[in-house]
This record gives sequence, structure tokens and C-alpha cells, in this order.
Amino acid sequence: MKFRNFRMVDYVVYGRGCFDQLEEILQPHRKDGTPMVFLLDHFFENKPLSTRIPLKSSDKLIFVDVSHEPKTTYVDLIATGLKNEFGQVSGIIGIGGGSAMDLAKAVSMMMTNPGSSADYQGWDLVKNPGVYKAGIPTLSGTGAEVSRTTVLTGPAKKLGMNSDFTPFNQILLDPELIAGAPVNQRFYTGMDCYIHCIESLQGTYLNEFSKSYGEKALAICQQVFLHKDHWDEGSDESLMMASYAGGMSIAYSQVGVAHAVSYGLGYLLGTKHGIGNCIVFDKLEAYYPEAVNEFRKMVEKNKIEIPQGITRGLNDEQFDTMINVSLGMKPLWENALGKDWEKKVTREKLRRLYEQL
Ligand code: NAD
Ligand code: ZN
Repeated sequence: MKFRNFRMVDYVVYGRGCFDQLEEILQPHRKDGTPMVFLLDHFFENKPLSTRIPLKSSDKLIFVDVSHEPKTTYVDLIATGLKNEFGQVSGIIGIGGGSAMDLAKAVSMMMTNPGSSADYQGWDLVKNPGVYKAGIPTLSGTGAEVSRTTVLTGPAKKLGMNSDFTPFNQILLDPELIAGAPVNQRFYTGMDCYIHCIESLQGTYLNEFSKSYGEKALAICQQVFLHKDHWDEGSDESLMMASYAGGMSIAYSQVGVAHAVSYGLGYLLGTKHGIGNCIVFDKLEAYYPEAVNEFRKMVEKNKIEIPQGITRGLNDEQFDTMINVSLGMKPLWENALGKDWEKKVTREKLRRLYEQL
């Protein structure tokens, strides 16, 4: 048996208000004459956070458009633009939800690797370490702050750049930054974490490493979304750690059916990760009966409406595209259903599931 030896984030700072330490943290990584580049989620344009970025005169602040989840073309555009403007940069700092953080990871790697980011969608294809990169979440749930992937939609597939060069050198976890997130968005991204935990804990890849993180993250999600009677600062603080722990849990295991099916929706319809996972999970009684029941209670308690009927009117070819994308996620299915997963999930079964969404 060969065990995976995975790379982790180098440095972590956690605490309410720790964003103020950002310049002190970045200072040693500034290289003469080359800028620190901040990729800030466009939500923060004209918001107070945009004025708190420790910008030096040579630095660059880019408001990244995350209306759509990151595409390889967008990563290439930013990286090429930076190379043309500066030659090289000191670092890339991603501030925002999973989309802005993933963009930062990918752009960092594309500053030092030739070609297009689409060439590196897969496992361990990246050849050179990227430039210094830091991630600062403003939503809690994806675990993108700790993961070894950056999920990109490319010309042929929706797949991450999974590599040892992908994790951040630094993450800064400041619960103050997520305080203003709208209820719906907070729920969808929070449920991404809940679903990571369920898929990890009920998967065949589970080991004690994953279990210990997954159980803690799950308990926090249940506390925040089900047992607490109102949202408070403590909710932001604990959910930020749930996201981290949920990410650590899947680092050594894998996600499962909801993610595999949701990737198909994302690829064809552009459905976003968090909401897509919720749309799918809601219909997965056959795979995760108790958790789906609990999920529905959380939906009700938080007064969230899960969209219905999003695949209505699609044609056979479109269903086939989603099924192909989903079945391409082999490790996810194997984790969920075991080594003989191909006998358990047929195209017909998947078609019926997609039709219900
Ligand atoms: P997101 O980053 O896509 O952002 C969703 C929306 O929330 C955007 O409109 C954004 O502008 C806004 N937003 C961000 N912070 C906000 C704040 N504090 N207040 C108000 N609005 C705010 O959402 P997400 O759910 O965090 O991330 C989803 C993305 O993460 C997807 O692209 C998905 O593929 C990726 N992802 C990556 C990993 C990984 O391991 N790399 C894991 C899971 C998901
Ligand atoms: Zn996820």
C-alpha cells in the first residue's frame, strides 16, 4: 500500500482583524522592482476592504470578475497581461470566495509555466513552482484555501490544476471579512463544506486523518446551520474553521456523488459550485439518506429556496454532455461507491437523476 504524501499550505494566520497584518506578512516576499498583485473579488469594488489593501506604488490591484466561475481563458488573460506589463511579479494575493482564490492559485502557476492553463488541467501536470501566492477567503465553505487544486473550466473540461505547486504559501483567515455575505450565498458556500464532510465521511477512501477533520467540520456546520437560533460573530468564526477542516478532510479522501453530478451542471449550464451542489444533494436520498434529510431541515430553518427544474427542456445531447462530464470524475465515483462503481451507476440512472434536478 502506498500512502499519499501531500503538500500543505506553508503558513496560516487566523483571527478576527488579522487582515491588518497583511503587509507585515507580505514584506519579506517583496522582490525589488516587481509588484505584489492583488486579485480582489469584484464584489469589493468601492467597498471599505478595497481601501485596506496594503498597496505600494509599484503594486497592482485587479478586481476580478467572478460572475462566472474561473475559466482557463481568464487565467491566461490575467497571467499574460501581467507578464507583458511587468515581466515578473513578487506574488499573487487572492482575496474573495473560492473563485477569486482559485484564480490567484492558477495565475501564480501560469507566471512560471509555459502555454495555457488548460494544458495543466489534470493531476500533477504542472512543472514549475508558481510565484509566491496567498489566499484570503471572504466566504466560508469551499476549502479552496487549503486544497491542492484550482477548479477551472477549460475548452474541453471542467477540471482543476491538481498539483503540489497549487497550495498557497500563505493563507489569512479573518472571520471579519465574511460578516457581510448575503444569507443565500453564505448558505450555498457553507453547504459546500457540509457536503464535503458527508461525502468524505461516507466515502470508501476515508481514513482517520480525513475522519478527524471531517467530523469536526460537520459538527460546526450542524451547529451553525441547524442548532443555533441566530447568526452571530461566533458563527463566522467557527464556519471559517469548518471550511478549513472540511478542506483538510477531502485532501486525504475525496468528494462524492453530489460533486460528480454537480460538475456536469456547472460545465453545461454554468451552475455555480455551491448552489449546484445543493440542487443535486437535495435529490440524493438514494446515496446519503440521513444527510439529505438533515440538509432539508437546514434549508427550511435558514429559509433558503433551492431552485427546481433547471434541466427541464434540455435535449438528449445536453444530457449526454452532463453525463459524460460526471462519469469522467472517476475518483469521486470510486470514493462514493467503491471499486466496482461502474456497475452501480449507469448512464440511465444518471439521466434519471439529471432529469429530476
Ligand atoms: P464565489 O467565489 O464564486 O463567489 C460567489 C459570489 O459571492 C460572487 O458573486 C462574489 O463576488 C460574492 N462574494 C464573495 N465574498 C463575498 C462577501 N464577503 N460578501 C458578499 N459577496 C461576496 O463563491 P464560493 O462558493 O466561495 O466559491 C465557488 C468557487 O470555488 C467555484 O469556482 C468552485 O469551483 C471553487 N471551488 C474550489 C475548490 C478548490 O478546492 N479549489 C473547492 C470548492 C470550490
Ligand atoms: Zn465543493
